Amino acid sequence: MLNVPPQAFPAPASQQRVAAGSRAKVPLKPGRSLMDWIRLTKSGKDLTGLKGRLIEVTEDELAKHNKKEDCWICIRGFVYNVTPYMEYHPGGEDELMKAAGSDGTDLFDQVHRWVNYESMLKECLVGRMAVKPIAAPKGMLPEKKVLGASAKGLTPSYDWFQTDSLITVVIYTKQKDVNAELVIVDCQDKQLRGEIIMDDHSYLVEVDLDHAVQEDLAVNIAEKVGKVEIILKKKDNIHWKMLGRPLESHNTLIKRTGRGLFYRKCKLVSKTEVTHDTKLFCLMLPKSTHLSVPTGQHVYLKQIIAGTEVVKPYTPVLPFLPLDFKEPSCHGGAHVYLMIKIYSCGLFTQALDHLQIGDYISVSSPEGNFKKSQVQTSEDLFLLAAGTGFTPMVKLLNFALTEVSCLRTVKLIFFNKTEDDILWRSQLEQLALKDERFEVQFVLSQPTKDWVGKHGKISSSLLCEFVKRSRKDSKVLICICGPTPFTEQGVQYLKDLGYSQEEIHAFSA
Ligand code: FAD
Ligand code: NAD
Repeated sequence: MLNVPPQAFPAPASQQRVAAGSRAKVPLKPGRSLMDWIRLTKSGKDLTGLKGRLIEVTEDELAKHNKKEDCWICIRGFVYNVTPYMEYHPGGEDELMKAAGSDGTDLFDQVHRWVNYESMLKECLVGRMAVKPIAAPKGMLPEKKVLGASAKGLTPSYDWFQTDSLITVVIYTKQKDVNAELVIVDCQDKQLRGEIIMDDHSYLVEVDLDHAVQEDLAVNIAEKVGKVEIILKKKDNIHWKMLGRPLESHNTLIKRTGRGLFYRKCKLVSKTEVTHDTKLFCLMLPKSTHLSVPTGQHVYLKQIIAGTEVVKPYTPVLPFLPLDFKEPSCHGGAHVYLMIKIYSCGLFTQALDHLQIGDYISVSSPEGNFKKSQVQTSEDLFLLAAGTGFTPMVKLLNFALTEVSCLRTVKLIFFNKTEDDILWRSQLEQLALKDERFEVQFVLSQPTKDWVGKHGKISSSLLCEFVKRSRKDSKVLICICGPTPFTEQGVQYLKDLGYSQEEIHAFSA
């Protein structure tokens, strides 16, 4: 028996994801885009050199294929010949070579666990490992499920009870301050999935319910005692003998990075123009989903493009910049708003732009390492955004101006190519007029001659002037987001200006 995942490859229900070409760490040669790769994989060319045969690979055999021109890598028990893929890898050949001739599962998960290399490399499949791979498939490691004895007392537990019409699942998190953003519940086709985020861990209740339930569910959270109730409505008023059949990850507490991304299908309810190339997409969550995306976090969208699952990250915004700083209740929870730039040659955004109102798209649970507590103690908040790098700043602005009482100044410096590219310009200007703590500055890299504002790209002199503390020792947070070179240069300039790592938050994938 081979010690590999039992599912067919690629698993029909797997979250097949492919790399985001735009995050390239090295410039890819012309003709080496993600779409070019998808085309090559569909061309019928023998990409493994094995003429369609699948073989069992021993560790010794794997180790022999450790050169660029002959490079095999094991991911989750499957072995791929990645030589044809080298030039298409957004992270560059060197990154791929780190796993040459060995098990690259952990390495791949560390870099981008949301990228489904299994899908992208399916034509490069050499075969399965004949012996136990060093890293086992996601979520299947027993040690991930079993906590150390000292942590056991802190492991959440669950219970359930019923009335004639309701099923209530109660999760005792055994920690205080559980809020709505930390509870993600989905119920699709009788499968209940309730996830509690506990710092960098995730507790999961995952059950194939005994009987059918209605579409809508309710979630009650007793924050102080850390109790979460999931209330389901029975479809038929019959007595349930059991809650249901536990699924594979049921009742586990593991590191968040160890869980695969979970997607639910959301309906596109509106699409409105923000600028000539950027649109605001409003997606409606299913009634059977309880999810709210925390400030500073992103979600992944998944579409099938040319037969391959493609996944890209997007940062939810608000429907508009509220001037009275109360998130409108009618927009709470049920909708996700995404401000997305459509690139004329963009693989994913072109497909997105073709979605019609009423179409469905898969949306993942939120991810990201930004913590609100970073802002909560700040006196000066400086936001450096470029292009759609503005998106994380939207909720951040709202949160800062509404909930952070110690903030004295909130400044946004917004870099764009032209005036026409500035997102929500008039809303930002109105906000600056309304709230004296807030100030906005626009900087254009390709202005027309009529532009009287600042021009150029991010530079040390611009930042030196912009990120001045309001008092000598005031507590500062600087958030930066935009194209990777913009963010990297910005962080370096800030460090050169004497700001510490703790005072800077760079948004990235
Ligand atoms: P691709 O097919 O990858 O690229 C095609 C061409 O489009 C490129 O050659 C280039 O000319 C141009 N292009 C593509 N991507 C970029 C880019 N990132 N920068 C500059 N030029 C590019 N985008 C949003 O619009 N809104 C968001 O809220 C948002 N949030 C993000 C959050 C995170 C954490 C990250 C990492 C990225 C985010 N992005 C966001 C970018 C998004 O994930 C995609 O990279 C983008 O939509 C392009 O995808 P594509 O497949 O259409 O383009
Ligand atoms: P863009 O090409 O329109 O450029 C906007 C501005 O960014 C330019 O005017 C310039 O000032 C600056 N800029 C661009 N390239 C630069 C470079 N090489 N060096 C220095 N400055 C540069 O931007 P866009 O097309 O809107 O792209 C926005 C970027 O933000 C994308 O790369 C997207 O992936 C990223 N983004 C990241 C996150 C995140 O990580 N959380 C969220 C949203 C957007």
